[in-house]
Amino acid sequence: MAAQSKKSPNALMEKLVALCKRRGFIFPSSEIYGGINGFFDYGPLGVEVKKNIKDRWWRDFVQRREDIIGLDASIIMNPEVWVASGHVGGFSDPMVDCKVSKMRYRADHLFFSPVVVDGETIGYISLLEGEEMEDAAEKMALELKRKLAIQGNLEPLELKEFTEAREDEYELIPSPATGKPGSLTPPREFNMMFQTHVGPLQDSSSVAYLRPETAQGIFTNFKNVLDSSRVKVPFGIAQIGKAFRNEITPRNFLFRSREFEQMEIEYFIDAEEETWKGSYREWIDTCMAWLKTIGLSEDRLSEYIHPEEKLSHYSKGTTDIMFAFPFGVQELWGIACRGNFDLTQHEKHSGKNLQYFDEAAKDKYIPHVVEPSVGVDRIFLALLVSAYDEDEIDGETRSLLRFSPAIAPIKAAVFPLVKNKPELVELARSIYRELSLDFPVFYDASGAIGRRYRRQDEIGTPYCITVDFDSLEDSSVTLRERDTAKQERVRVEDLLGIIRDQVQG
Ligand code: ATP
Repeated sequence: MAAQSKKSPNALMEKLVALCKRRGFIFPSSEIYGGINGFFDYGPLGVEVKKNIKDRWWRDFVQRREDIIGLDASIIMNPEVWVASGHVGGFSDPMVDCKVSKMRYRADHLFFSPVVVDGETIGYISLLEGEEMEDAAEKMALELKRKLAIQGNLEPLELKEFTEAREDEYELIPSPATGKPGSLTPPREFNMMFQTHVGPLQDSSSVAYLRPETAQGIFTNFKNVLDSSRVKVPFGIAQIGKAFRNEITPRNFLFRSREFEQMEIEYFIDAEEETWKGSYREWIDTCMAWLKTIGLSEDRLSEYIHPEEKLSHYSKGTTDIMFAFPFGVQELWGIACRGNFDLTQHEKHSGKNLQYFDEAAKDKYIPHVVEPSVGVDRIFLALLVSAYDEDEIDGETRSLLRFSPAIAPIKAAVFPLVKNKPELVELARSIYRELSLDFPVFYDASGAIGRRYRRQDEIGTPYCITVDFDSLEDSSVTLRERDTAKQERVRVEDLLGIIRDQVQG
């Protein structure tokens, strides 16, 4: 873990956002028009990293597994799908409005506590969920006590979600925007699906939704896949694609946006107790191990088991793989045992038979599923957090991204030592041309070599290749490794093999 990230979480996020913009990883969407909250564009380097994440996932979970096959379903589906899945009726978050500031909060992200001094409630404090929330709340309580000039002992605060507030407390809890009570509304359910209309008529008969998850496209194609692929339970269907949620409070950069990409698998199993327990554990371990292979800091990863009383009625268990982001430990990957709820619902609503026939056992049933579901953009942010570092080389501070070669947007940069010596330039360009047949390579002939190295370190390029005068004599070049800045002479003909091995990993 990079040392500086522990010291100042906000400073690290600010640095990452600035670096992403400056170097072309991520831009705010439609920025020249003032942007639009909760949407982002991936720039020339960002699109490479994102593609690498998705390619790795597809390679490891689809291409290299006999039991998983892929799918790419449409974003807009028959609206009945979302009735069956429960999204029309229940895909909502409780929201709270501040009538004065017009700010809107997710009620389960807004915390409050009465401030009690010597047994007497002197007022309330409120604040948004975050790291070190307890400390901040205590400071607010002490400040309230000081302002009201009340003597006595402050009793320990009991922070609760706004969803747990009693009706008579709504009026008393201050708005985080104004600091004053009286302006917060009671929590109301807010459906997060984006609506649109299909076809020329703009009435209720043409309403459709942008999918809020990719999973339902898998369930609705279950029968098609069964009939066309000769798969046998246990097997999985995997999908990567865009999902849209009208989040009440998009925040923390890529962590919670309104348009994002998911990588989901529905892994179909039989209903036996042993089977789902084994498969559930296996999926948690597999996902955790995979995250480490792409370079997420091990010490930032943990598991969170959802308490039984908070699970939906059909769920047998859910575990989230958590990541310690600079703004707190948050969900990265959810692994849910959904029973056979979804297929059963679709069978009911569509009237189509969605049973699986087990030929060996001559048994018909609706399979159960384990669903590992992860956001590409959240992984992207976790990778940035894991990879960002600052160190000192030759007395100079540098910032770098320690991306694994598989994830790095550019795998190697090629530099001629000087740009006015045609033979050097020609050799450097020929190396560039050859390597770029296999992976993204950057050619840079301008500026001092040290500066060229720093520019590549900052975007995470694992290798820099310098062609110098000796290269013309011995067909060797200097290969510099990003993390250690170690340099070695390597024969030109060996370059491709060395770098390719690292990139493929
Ligand atoms: P949260 O509680 O954070 O809103 P969730 O539990 O609703 O998330 P799921 O429905 O389980 O999320 O979605 C699966 C995965 O999709 C999440 O683990 C996350 O990686 C990703 N994801 C969900 N919502 C967003 C979002 N608004 N922005 C980016 N990624 C998201």
